[in-house]
Amino acid sequence: MAETILFLGHTEAAGELSRITLEALGAAKSLAGERVVGLVGRETLHAAESIGSCGASRFLAVTGEPFSVSRYATDCAAAEAICRAAGATIVIAPHTSRWARSLPGVAQRLGGRADTHITGITSNGSSLQVARWFYRQRMEALLGRAQRPWILLLESGCRAAWQGDTAPVTLENIEVEITPALVRTTVTGKQAPRSELQTIRPDAALLFVAGAGWTKKQKDGAMHVGQAAELISRFLEVSQASLGSSKSLVDLSGEGHAVLPFLSHLNQVGQTGSTPRHPKGLATCCHGEEPHVVGWRFIQERRAVNLDPNCGWARGKADVLYVADAFEVMARVNALLEER
Ligand SMILES: Cc1cc2nc3c(=O)[nH]c(=O)nc-3n(C[C@H](O)[C@H](O)[C@H](O)COP(=O)(O)OP(=O)(O)OC[C@H]3O[C@@H](n4cnc5c(N)ncnc54)[C@H](O)[C@@H]3O)c2cc1C
Repeated sequence: MAETILFLGHTEAAGELSRITLEALGAAKSLAGERVVGLVGRETLHAAESIGSCGASRFLAVTGEPFSVSRYATDCAAAEAICRAAGATIVIAPHTSRWARSLPGVAQRLGGRADTHITGITSNGSSLQVARWFYRQRMEALLGRAQRPWILLLESGCRAAWQGDTAPVTLENIEVEITPALVRTTVTGKQAPRSELQTIRPDAALLFVAGAGWTKKQKDGAMHVGQAAELISRFLEVSQASLGSSKSLVDLSGEGHAVLPFLSHLNQVGQTGSTPRHPKGLATCCHGEEPHVVGWRFIQERRAVNLDPNCGWARGKADVLYVADAFEVMARVNALLEER
């Protein structure tokens, strides 16, 4: 069956398309079939022109103030209208919180199916298969579906972002009637935990992981938690790395111990934590036990600093293990970064 592939994006606050959105466009472009672009946002022409040379046959948009914010009712209405206007059989969308919340509902309205957390798409001409991890990233499945339309939400960091020239486009505006029910929810702003705002940076090139060793007695027999906090926060500031943590370290705060002030459970990486995606990772004062390292599934290049040459990282879990004192290493690294 010839597929009509709709790439569905939404604009960000300043009207641009995010990196994960361009990654989804790259995935859509790799598939055979008629390709259509659909965009939602306050203003979409600039975004459409920024991907004007992507080879789509049509550019559709739902534009206007009500579509500037993430709101289930308006997002569903906009996405449904674009899917119908495009006659889409396959919809490729980025796994943003906005689309993850609304597109499964759109699949229901269209009599289709949606699959989330997709990490790969392959097509052998006649059939399409997608990859998705299950059981906390321990099993990978390849899925196919006969049902159409099939909406696929693509995870970030799984393929290169589309790159190309800006080009003029003819944007077809799709009208969506704004009924009172659609705008009953008022979006008043965004609130995020302070730690998330400051230290979790999904787009960072580096994941820096702090383990419980930062809070343990050091070679002088004393703990140096204040110094650890200073070294880590300085490193995050100069490198703009994202901060991850082991479970042991974040649990300490719940037990009333002195811990790093900028850490919360949101930073925890691992089996019962997150599975972030970054090109590089550096673990410090963290043992590298399997329940933690399972969260490194998508970190491409792994390094660790640990005093123990027999720690988990030395057992095939890191590409490079520096057997060294992380306090000394990070002080030197910070000094070198500050010299730049
Ligand atoms: C069901 C289950 C789920 C779990 N889920 C998770 C999870 O999601 N995430 C997770 O992280 N853990 C998880 N765990 C816990 C996990 O098994 C480990 O207990 C935890 O990751 C250990 O944390 P850590 O390496 O920071 O601490 P520790 O094991 O205490 O290691 C501290 C390390 O710091 C090193 N060190 C100390 N001082 C220095 C220094 N100056 N320089 C360099 N190195 C130094 C030590 O050599 C040591 O290796 C789970 C466990 C279970 C049973």
